[in-house]
Amino acid sequence: MPRGPRLLLPLLALPLVLTGCGGGTAPGADPDALQVVASFYPLEYLAERIAGEHAQVTTLTAPGVDPHEVELTPRQVGSLGSADLVVYAAGMQPAVDDAVSSQAAEHALDVMPSASLLPSDGDDHDHGHGHEHDEAGHDDEAAEATEEHSVDDGHDHGAFDPHFWLDPKRYADVAATLANHLAEVDPEHAEDYRANVRVLTDELRDLDDELADGLQTCASREVVTTHDAFGYLGARYDLHVVGITGIAPDAEPSPARLAEVTALVEELGVGTVYAEPLLPTAIAETVAAETGAQVLTLDPADGLTADEDTDYPSIMRDNLDALREGLGCS
Ligand SMILES: [Zn+2]
Repeated sequence: MPRGPRLLLPLLALPLVLTGCGGGTAPGADPDALQVVASFYPLEYLAERIAGEHAQVTTLTAPGVDPHEVELTPRQVGSLGSADLVVYAAGMQPAVDDAVSSQAAEHALDVMPSASLLPSDGDDHDHGHGHEHDEAGHDDEAAEATEEHSVDDGHDHGAFDPHFWLDPKRYADVAATLANHLAEVDPEHAEDYRANVRVLTDELRDLDDELADGLQTCASREVVTTHDAFGYLGARYDLHVVGITGIAPDAEPSPARLAEVTALVEELGVGTVYAEPLLPTAIAETVAAETGAQVLTLDPADGLTADEDTDYPSIMRDNLDALREGLGCS
């Protein structure tokens, strides 16, 4: 036989190997894949969804670690220098801010300017007061947040609330920015990035609608949480959010703060205090025990637990269930 078939066979086999039939070839094994480093989970999720097979996405915040408190190994810091893109949220993780400025200033994307951040205002997130949910776009807060985010010293948690991903609309805005940036960094796959972000945006819109519908009619709109991560969720769905600890979770709230929140819970007749998967449940339990409130779990989705089965949409839908139960929504 002539040698044609022998030459042909390897060529035919190649695509099968690259698409990973049988699971032997991880997407990240592609040597041409873009190396993307995400600083913590919400950005890792966006990068994976938008870049898909074209990138190998790694995260600086391992499952089970509170992202606010992350510390980087020398190896992680070094990985920033060789990455094609580092996506991070300035002001959220001081260790990451430092590493980016020393290693990746030329190829890092700070998503914060596209998130329409609101100033952090201590213990009271009453942005949603009198806020009407309208189907067309319902994002008046974005217009209100006229001040550009400008936390550039990397150690100021106080100026702006970084937890934008708990509002699916803000999260979608950041997704669009990341997709545009990926298209610039890797123009060859720009169409794929745009297609992927369209799918993701539709999913986030559906999630937003579910949250708005599910939280429309509730016996209470008072949400007492462990750390003050849910201000944007409150702003979007007209909930009044009180965090027992601050925007960046402190190790322990002061006795004065505990007394203050306990008094508020009693005064407003709040029936539920929310614990978090990555923070000590004792904080919520202390307030609950004083007041007779129940403890449920609300997940700020800023880091995964070791539970592999959760992702951003599933966490948010679990949050919706927990809110509906705790607030008595019909
Ligand atoms: Zn947080």
